[in-house]
Amino acid sequence: MIQYKTREEIELIRESSLLVARTHAEVAKHIRPGVTTIELDRIAEGFIRDHGAVPGFKGYQGFPYSLCISPNEVIVHGFPSDNPVMEGDILSIDCGVLKNGFYGDSAYTFAVGEISDEKKRLLKVTYKSLLDGIEQLVAGNTLGDVSWAIQNTAEKAGYSVVRELVGHGVGRNLHEPPELPNFGKKGMGELIKEGLVVAIEPMINMGKRFVVQEKDGWTIRTADRKPSGHYEHTVAVIDGKPEMLSTFSLIEESLKENKYNSVIIR
Ligand code: MG
Ligand code: MG
Repeated sequence: MIQYKTREEIELIRESSLLVARTHAEVAKHIRPGVTTIELDRIAEGFIRDHGAVPGFKGYQGFPYSLCISPNEVIVHGFPSDNPVMEGDILSIDCGVLKNGFYGDSAYTFAVGEISDEKKRLLKVTYKSLLDGIEQLVAGNTLGDVSWAIQNTAEKAGYSVVRELVGHGVGRNLHEPPELPNFGKKGMGELIKEGLVVAIEPMINMGKRFVVQEKDGWTIRTADRKPSGHYEHTVAVIDGKPEMLSTFSLIEESLKENKYNSVIIR
């Protein structure tokens, strides 16, 4: 059953989502060639706990870290590690927090130093597919309208959409109904109503859509090892219209100060 949220509950989810955005912005200051992703995870965990919250992912179904860090061909659920990131990498960083009983969830794909034009285009299109999906999250539409918009933008650009992983409701649970696939048909699926809060998160592959799960039981990568992009916002339906509860503007402020890491998606 979908739990539609009151305005008060939406404000609490906004608070959690803004802490996610601030955590991303803090992490963004430290992304450069040579940094290890476990170091980024430590920075995020400290920041979240210093702000009176709990990392939303740590311990979730046994996930061992505060961030999912997924470089290049890794789509989502990558483990932070001792491997240093390298110039030209793209890095999907997914973060969730739990504060006041409510979760926020957002992901951003960063560029490490100078990345290829091919990767830049993948990130721009992935981000555009997120915005096009959000635009359809209006009362009276269906979830299929959101899914279709994401898929249409990605496939028109020649990319493919991951099918095995989907967006989701967010609230007292990190993942709750409804499921929100990044592919679908207009007019199909659940009717969108006031108070719906969902994490919309297109995972868009440069090559084919097929995925492989690594032996660690978590890491999902592309089968053809071509890169994948991932952006995610937590979004609420307020007065019938979509309102983003998470934001990328704090990340972008950090990126302006970091010569190893630039804004690709504007
Ligand atoms: Mg997420
Ligand atoms: Mg999510």
